[in-house]
Amino acid sequence: MNKETAEALVLHFAQKYLVKVLPQDTFKYLDMDKALEHQLVQEWDSKIAMHSHWSGVVDIQNQQTVNDVVDIFKQALLNKKQLRLQYEGRDQSFQYNPFGLVVRDQQCFFIGSVCDNKAPCLLAARKIQQIQLTDDDGLLPEDDFDLETFSSYYLNHPQSSPEIIEELVVEFPASVYSYVKNHPLQCASIALTEPEGHPAYFKLTATQVINSVRLHQWLTGFHDRAHILQPFSLKKIVNVSYIDQLTHLYNRKGFDRQLQRAIEKYYREAQSVFSVLVIDVDKFKVINDDNGHIVGDQVLTAIADCLRQYDAIRYGGEEFVVALELDCNRASTIAERIRTAVAALSIATENGLIQPTISIGIAEFPAHLSLTDKQKIKITANRQLSVALKLELIKSITDSADKALYQAKEQGRNRCVIAESGC
Ligand code: GH3
Ligand code: MG
Ligand code: MG
Repeated sequence: MNKETAEALVLHFAQKYLVKVLPQDTFKYLDMDKALEHQLVQEWDSKIAMHSHWSGVVDIQNQQTVNDVVDIFKQALLNKKQLRLQYEGRDQSFQYNPFGLVVRDQQCFFIGSVCDNKAPCLLAARKIQQIQLTDDDGLLPEDDFDLETFSSYYLNHPQSSPEIIEELVVEFPASVYSYVKNHPLQCASIALTEPEGHPAYFKLTATQVINSVRLHQWLTGFHDRAHILQPFSLKKIVNVSYIDQLTHLYNRKGFDRQLQRAIEKYYREAQSVFSVLVIDVDKFKVINDDNGHIVGDQVLTAIADCLRQYDAIRYGGEEFVVALELDCNRASTIAERIRTAVAALSIATENGLIQPTISIGIAEFPAHLSLTDKQKIKITANRQLSVALKLELIKSITDSADKALYQAKEQGRNRCVIAESGC
């Protein structure tokens, strides 16, 4: 290859793949036709294809309109000007300060701010109904704004978008009280309350909170010390390391955290009980063997969807756990509901419909702890629980539910069984 061919290759592929991110003018000054004359360019072009799982999602008929919209956006970005936009789902047009352009597979997204520069939001180019370049200077993002971090965060968590959270409720340990108090959120009202008689924790209730990256950073900064009670969407988003990548349920780490809190609550509040459901997919190996792992994964995700509202955990391969603040009889009503929802699934595959079933074992804390562990909680009552003991108790209650699960399998699967007492 010589220098000229190399340049022709770069030019050609720049146009082909970078056309979305460069201003259209760029190619006006370059001799693209000449680049195409090189044999290697033509050959290489016929041998390279870029596919993505998003292809097909884009409405091809709308591509031209989208390209025009994107080009106006690029001009605003280059010249640091404001835009006036009309966006799908919004009644009125609004001024928009462009911060950056992101291309994900075939789609373009704009990042910028509507009012001040503190809460950037992401807009999909294809949802823009009208766009107009204005003469007004656009606001620039804050110094610590990072386009890469912001865009990958929002594109990977598309469900994170209500821009205003009506009510945010978070429980914190007392040790961070003054930090939380001195770092207020962007919201309409905020209240910090101490749970009656439980000085180890306090609760933050904020209304009309701006759901910005800043909020997410603030929350993640507390790692596992902040327990988000509301809204549901934020619970799943903030603690990424507690989330299973296939099903987006909590993972095992999330399980330990959730159960440690439930045990702490048992100590704080008299009469509090909780039950653990251990859920296992029936004959999952056969589903995998007959249809392959990819379909197996689809089945797992469909089952996970039936468990999502119960804050379920993916405990391992095809096993899930749900912890409910209920005694075992009431928990068994929920378990039955989950079992029926899964049994009603019908997943279409190349080999026909798959109708998975699950078996569930149920154990109540502390009634179904092993005798030795029951003994340990008595001795420890009124004292601080060590993490090691909490983990031991978690294992003990899960083992009891596991035994009940084993019985459910023995009895023919697709059923729920409550652990025997005093096992
Ligand atoms: P049983 O009713 O007794 O539970 O039968 P089973 O076939 O479900 O039990 P077994 O534990 O023998 O098989 C579980 C299978 O789950 C084995 C493994 O290949 C599969 N598996 C585990 N994790 C995953 C995963 O992430 N994806 C997929 N597709 N399969 C998985
Ligand atoms: Mg299993
Ligand atoms: Mg199984």
